[in-house]
Amino acid sequence: MTKEIAAGVPLYVVTDWADRFPWLFAGITHAGSGPDPFDLRLFGEPASELAPARWNDLLLASAFTAMVHARQVHETRIVVHDGVGAGVREAEGAADGHATAESGVLLAVTVADCVPVYLLDPDARAVALLHAGWRGTAAGILPHGIALLSQRWGTEPVDLLVHLGPAICGECYEVGPEVFEALGLEAPPDPAPVDVRVALARQARAAGVPTESVSVSDVCTLCGDRNLFSHRAGRTERQVAVVGILP
Ligand SMILES: [Zn+2]
Repeated sequence: MTKEIAAGVPLYVVTDWADRFPWLFAGITHAGSGPDPFDLRLFGEPASELAPARWNDLLLASAFTAMVHARQVHETRIVVHDGVGAGVREAEGAADGHATAESGVLLAVTVADCVPVYLLDPDARAVALLHAGWRGTAAGILPHGIALLSQRWGTEPVDLLVHLGPAICGECYEVGPEVFEALGLEAPPDPAPVDVRVALARQARAAGVPTESVSVSDVCTLCGDRNLFSHRAGRTERQVAVVGILP
């Protein structure tokens, strides 16, 4: 689903959407090929000293006016952004999702195994971006995001596009039966690998999004060859997923 672009920062773009919607920018950073990985971790220990400057570089390379993000806590709060000032801006309070219909505002979530969920209403030109690990998925951040788009911009689920970006895959992510249960999946007796993107795709369909409107990246942060950071692999670094309406 992705290809590399040269923009001063290492980034894969969601190619499907880039081809269909030239007014849209959607992608995810990666570690890059240099000796110093392109780590964008702003929070936690250790935070990358270079991360704030890199966030600015990402904003400049994308040609957006503002980039918004928040402290993430694996819950379901989604912040709607309008009237955003310029620069890299942290939303007030913790949040695991962002939404906007304002051009020039780039939404960002930080990930390393969790699923970046991109939502696009092409008619309203409204977007949302969610950080969905198993806890956020179980708590319903995706149906919450779909409902929010509907309330705010009149989005009909039948017109909505959903992209489930690079994340840990269904072979690499071993969890206990309680996680399967929380995700509404049939629970095996012993720890087994789970595919959070399968659970998210089901939720999207249950919310009325057509099957053909849900695209799933085949890229795994752990076993894939795309130079992405994986929490399960013991990495503390983070990549950043972004989506926005170009200015
Ligand atoms: Zn994998």
